[in-house]
Amino acid sequence: MATIIDGKAIAAEVRSEVREDVAKWTADGHAPPYLAVILVGDNPASASYVRGKIKASQDAGIAGDTLKFDASISEKALLSVIQDLNDSPHVSGILVQLPLPGHLDSSRIIAALNPDKDVDGLHTVNAGRLVTDSQGFVPCTPAGIVELLRRSNIPTEGQHAVILGRSHLVGRPLASLLLRKQYNATVTVCHSRTKNLPEVCRTADILVAAIGRTHFVSADMIKPGAAIIDVGINRVEDPKHKRGYYLTGDVDYNAAKELAGYITPVPGGVGPMTIAMLLKNTMTAAKLLG
Ligand code: NAP
Repeated sequence: MATIIDGKAIAAEVRSEVREDVAKWTADGHAPPYLAVILVGDNPASASYVRGKIKASQDAGIAGDTLKFDASISEKALLSVIQDLNDSPHVSGILVQLPLPGHLDSSRIIAALNPDKDVDGLHTVNAGRLVTDSQGFVPCTPAGIVELLRRSNIPTEGQHAVILGRSHLVGRPLASLLLRKQYNATVTVCHSRTKNLPEVCRTADILVAAIGRTHFVSADMIKPGAAIIDVGINRVEDPKHKRGYYLTGDVDYNAAKELAGYITPVPGGVGPMTIAMLLKNTMTAAKLLG
């Protein structure tokens, strides 16, 4: 029976460390870190994620605001907003909530951010810094995953980490992180064209599922004793639930927990860590700005 990795509790630990850090920073006479969140359109899921991020920031003593724009905003207007935020000495971190409406090119928008204010770590400069082992912002979800492993005392050195998913948000940056000498894992990244996927998964000491497919990882894909990190957030319609749906991961949790050594639940695993790492990155951004 697996040990359940309590992402909420570990995230609370990180958040309280950030709160202490912010308190020291302001006690030294600095203004609190300031996070600007850009929200375009009225996607209810995005609005709810943004509310969660702002609330968590406030709890940590980080100042901030949500800049809301109509879905019809032009790319030129949005780029000009980003320029103003880049130039403002009061803004430590800028986050553009994705996805953006179809007429906006998100890669052009992200490219306009000052990389030293890119607290989501999505700018190509930060991606480059990550693969070259240089100092920079690491995307919050993979940063949260390595923090979960580290704080749960799950060894990574020489371990085979298999990552399902090669997105720029999760899979690829996580592979770069786990390859760092600090973690020394042996990493395999899988995607939709990977052959013999179940066999590859069965060789994993650490299996990370980040594909967005409900219960894709079944018990027969798990090596007994492995650490299973479930990044997936999938919405399953269910009229029996108050909201008409529930959220579940990429792993068949009930079956997997019988075999695995460690496992993260969904919700309450990786998700809370993503927000905690955003706060940590925002504090770092404030220090960079001085
Ligand atoms: P994404 O950009 O859609 O990437 C999905 C990846 O999964 C792609 O590399 C894709 O392969 C691969 N894939 C899809 N179907 C597959 C299959 N049948 N077999 C093997 N690989 C398959 O997704 P993402 O942004 O990384 O997000 C993944 C999941 O994590 C989603 O459920 C998302 O909601 C969740 N998420 C959670 C958090 C959190 O804080 N907990 C944060 C970010 C994302 P190809 O490249 O070949 O298409």
